[in-house]
Amino acid sequence: MSDLKLCQGTRCHQYNTKDRLKGTKENKTFQTRRRSSFYYGNGNFCSLNCQNDWFNDFGDKAIDHFGRLTEPKHLNENNAWVKSYDWDNGYENRTYVYLNQITKEQRPITEQQYNDSNYTLNIS
Ligand SMILES: [Zn+2]
Repeated sequence: MSDLKLCQGTRCHQYNTKDRLKGTKENKTFQTRRRSSFYYGNGNFCSLNCQNDWFNDFGDKAIDHFGRLTEPKHLNENNAWVKSYDWDNGYENRTYVYLNQITKEQRPITEQQYNDSNYTLNIS
């Protein structure tokens, strides 16, 4: 039981589906969903509804806390690197690359670098 996560949706318990009805016969209540993993919101929400509920309640505060954009960001040579594949040798022999969306330059990377979400060539 301790490995189960609770959906962070602020109104999860208010969606009265059968699977949320828990407890002994006389004391059943609709409860927040509890699962080993969730698909939505980086594994924090049981459904898009719950993710949207949370965002409607807290999204503005979260954006203000972490920094609201006040001017548009610009894609340039320094921040245009995206992880991609080089398909030149076919699907089976594809290799991992960093592709610059502006210059179209490709640089080979390892599968490990491809899967490492902290690994980036972007400067800004
Ligand atoms: Zn939920």
